[in-house]
Amino acid sequence: MARVHALRRKSTLALRQRKAALLRQLALPPQAIRASVVERFGTCGKSNCACHQGQKHGPYYYLTQCLAPGRVQKFLLKSAADQQSAREATAAFNGFYEGLEELSQINTALLRRGEPLSGSGS
Ligand SMILES: [Zn+2]
Repeated sequence: MARVHALRRKSTLALRQRKAALLRQLALPPQAIRASVVERFGTCGKSNCACHQGQKHGPYYYLTQCLAPGRVQKFLLKSAADQQSAREATAAFNGFYEGLEELSQINTALLRRGEPLSGSGS
């Protein structure tokens, strides 16, 4: 769910200034991945292994990505470097997405006020 920005009481000038700042700072992050990094512990196939008495193997880290309802892509992040890359990539996506969402909410508020949307002019 998107974070809701309280914009109703802000002046049109303040909205335009915030919009201009967002347009300056928002650049597509080259490493962006829309996904989650999840931690999992598991049991193995050896029946006498300690993992069946609660000492589960792990943690293992997976990248999980929902492509469509019911279609999730998931794979193991094998190395610490891959795990770090995945965390940075998902954080980069989320940061960009939050900025884009705020821009969308500002534009919606401007449209409601009958203001022009194109350009960053403040
Ligand atoms: Zn085991």
